[in-house]
Amino acid sequence: MRELLIATRNKGKWPEIVAGLAGMPFQIVSPDQAGIPADFAAEEIASTFEGNALIKAFTFGKRSGKLTLAEDAGLEVDTLGGRPGIMSARYAEGSDEDRYRKLLSELSGIPYAERGAQFRAVVAIFDPERGDKIRTCEGIVQGHIVDEPRGSNGFGYDPIFFSDELGKTGGEMTLTEKSRVSHRGRALAKAREILLAQFV
Ligand code: IMP
Repeated sequence: MRELLIATRNKGKWPEIVAGLAGMPFQIVSPDQAGIPADFAAEEIASTFEGNALIKAFTFGKRSGKLTLAEDAGLEVDTLGGRPGIMSARYAEGSDEDRYRKLLSELSGIPYAERGAQFRAVVAIFDPERGDKIRTCEGIVQGHIVDEPRGSNGFGYDPIFFSDELGKTGGEMTLTEKSRVSHRGRALAKAREILLAQFV
């Protein structure tokens, strides 16, 4: 079986990406398992999710020589013109809770109907062995930002993002539920097809 390096050290994303790739004919490898030092990181300097996903896939793929899957994601709030967007991980100093509390305070007083938001994820697949072949795909989930956090599952902004489709916040979803509707789950469903058709 071919190895597939997952270019993330994000502990929230990792189980979701592994679940999204379950049953694929690849041996999933973490950066640690690939012998990549803990302080090795990609510089996320692009202005789009796609750009940053490509940077991560190239950086880890070139370093390891392995087929690599990377992902960049974030939360886009309509009334904030799409912020925090690509800045989601760096929106405020401190913890995930500090970041979602900042967002809640920015939205205070704004009625629910105007609190529409979406998570967007772009997956990039890079194969350094095949003429630097690279492919990307995207997934989106629509919802609203609630005014109080709910649930403790997931990570990041999950407790304040209410999925219109599932009728619960990301913090209230099981891994299986989140994988079915989430931006990441949807991007990975497309990535599965691309991997099978072009990278096995
Ligand atoms: P990245 O590592 O640059 O892709 O940063 C993504 C950031 O967006 C995370 O650190 C979270 O703050 C946020 N984010 C992305 N996906 C999710 C999700 O599925 N749930 C909650 N927050 C997310």
